[in-house]
Order: sequence, then structure tokens, then C-alpha cells
Amino acid sequence: MMKRFPLLTLSAVLGALTGCALFTPPLSPELAALKLPYRIEDGALTITNADRAFTIRGGSRVATFNGTTVYLLREAELSGDGTFSVDPASIDKVIEPLLFGSAPAADVKTILLDPGHGGGELGAVGPAGTREKEINLSLAHALRAELEKRGFKVLMTRDDDREVGLDERGSLCNRLQPDLFLSIHHNAAGNRNATGIETYALTPAGSPSTSDTPTVRVKEQSLRGNRFDAQNVTLAAGVQTYLRRRVGGPDRGVKFARFRVLVLAACPAILIEAGFLSNPAEEKNIASPQRQAKAAAAIADAVTEYARHRLRRSGASESPAQSAPAPSR
Ligand SMILES: [Zn+2]
Repeated sequence: MMKRFPLLTLSAVLGALTGCALFTPPLSPELAALKLPYRIEDGALTITNADRAFTIRGGSRVATFNGTTVYLLREAELSGDGTFSVDPASIDKVIEPLLFGSAPAADVKTILLDPGHGGGELGAVGPAGTREKEINLSLAHALRAELEKRGFKVLMTRDDDREVGLDERGSLCNRLQPDLFLSIHHNAAGNRNATGIETYALTPAGSPSTSDTPTVRVKEQSLRGNRFDAQNVTLAAGVQTYLRRRVGGPDRGVKFARFRVLVLAACPAILIEAGFLSNPAEEKNIASPQRQAKAAAAIADAVTEYARHRLRRSGASESPAQSAPAPSR
């Protein structure tokens, strides 16, 4: 084990030998304030809380939570003296809610499913002609069945092939007052090799979205959906984890975007991109009822786990993590 902590042990030994303050803590004060155990392996920092582990690398936004890819809001940094630091929003809105867990904002009874696109709005179209609006709806139907089996009440923003505007989906969410909102989509990219599943949560106020270029001005003000930042990321990580394990394929991770339906959602909300229609092999797979059944069961199990408060914080006694709903800042 010793050789896994070269930085820590070497500087600690030097500090002890020379009796002076050579020892530089490998965590920035903000990360140290989490008061959680950590280890450094292969240049990566892993912070743990009981059975949860969050790993970051200097110079990268790509982190992992219990093996699932999760994007930080900004790059983690590793300074020349070996200190890891992360922007405060990534600590508050990503690392802390995941390591400590966040209880659902309310008892989860009713879930609003939002199959993307519909009617004249086809969404993506695969090389073999599969239309996104159709597989979004069929996956949503499979998911409804799985959720109902688990005792949830399920509502839909559309139950057939009709066009529903983004604002209309948002106002439905307001009116129907669900406890969770799950938007179902499938991806497309110019690169036909692109593959895998990704799950989106609303970008926290003041932070860039995952796909933003460095020159994009970040939105400073808090949006309606930002009231549920902690729940959004917790739900997204749970769904991405179950999909990664059960459906497989490359783990594209939990990402952040200001999608209109997530901005408007009046409850914890995520958007699932359940695979790439633009990839010929994946198009075929996505359209198969077997794959849809597997994905639906995986999402339903993740929702069940979230709803059962099993992601509630545990372990460390002094946690700055807030119980839901987190105030918007
Ligand atoms: Zn879509």
C-alpha cells in the first residue's frame, strides 16, 4: 500500500525529518473541507465515503463516481506541488451530492415521462431510416410498464405520435406536478462510429455546460430546474450507472446541459440519450424490443433506488451536504 502514496509519504517523511513544513496537503482547502478519506493512485485522486468513490485527474473534467463517468463542471487541477483542486461548483453540485447522497426532494410517487420529438418533428433519423420520435416513444412505453410494475404512477407528455412543444412539455410538468421528470431521447452524430449512452442534468447556475467551448458566456442566474441540482445529478448518476451495467456499450457519462425541458422542469429532472441512431450497428440494437426492455428495466431500477432514499448520505458525521431541496444560489 505504501508505494501507492508516493507523494504523500515522501513529503510527510521529508517534513518529519527536517521538522519543517515541507508537507503540502494533496487536497485544496475546499476538497479537504469534505473531511473524507482519500488516496492517490496512478496520478488520480480518489475521495471515498463508505462504499462511494469519486475519482478526479488533474487537467481533466472527466471524473468517475463508483466507476461511472461523471463530468466535472470545470477541469480539475493538479498543481506543481502535487495539490489537487476542483472549482467550488463542481464540489457543491457534483462531488458532494454524489459522495454524500441527496434525498429525493419529495416522496417519489408520480413520474412524468417525456418521449422526445413527435408528429412532424422526427428527431434524429438513422441510416436505415429508424426515426427517433418512434423509438423514444417505444422506449417510454417499455419504461412506463416497468415503472408501473414497481408501483409508480406514470404520466406521459405524449402517448402517441403528436407534436408537443418544449414549452408545452414544461408547462405540463408544472400542471401535472410529478415527482420526477424523465426525458427520453436517442443521439445522432456526424461521426458514424459514435456510440454509447449519456445522461444529462441541468447545468448549475454560473457553470459552463459540458459541450460549451471556453469562450461561451456562462449563465450566472439560477433557472427553475436549478432548485434541484443535487437531486438532478444524483438521479442522473444512478440512471447512467444502471444503464452502463445492464445495457453496456461505451459509458459517455453524466453531462450537464441547459436543455429547455430541464430548465422548465418543476421537479428533479434528467434527459437520457439512450444510444446513437447515427451508428448503423447501434441503430439496429436500439430498435430491438430486447434492448429496449433491458434499458427500461435498468432505468426503472435506478429510479426505484433513488426513490427509496438509498442514496441518502451516510458515513461522515460532519457533512456540509444539504438535505433536499437545495437552495439555488
Ligand atoms: Zn432527441
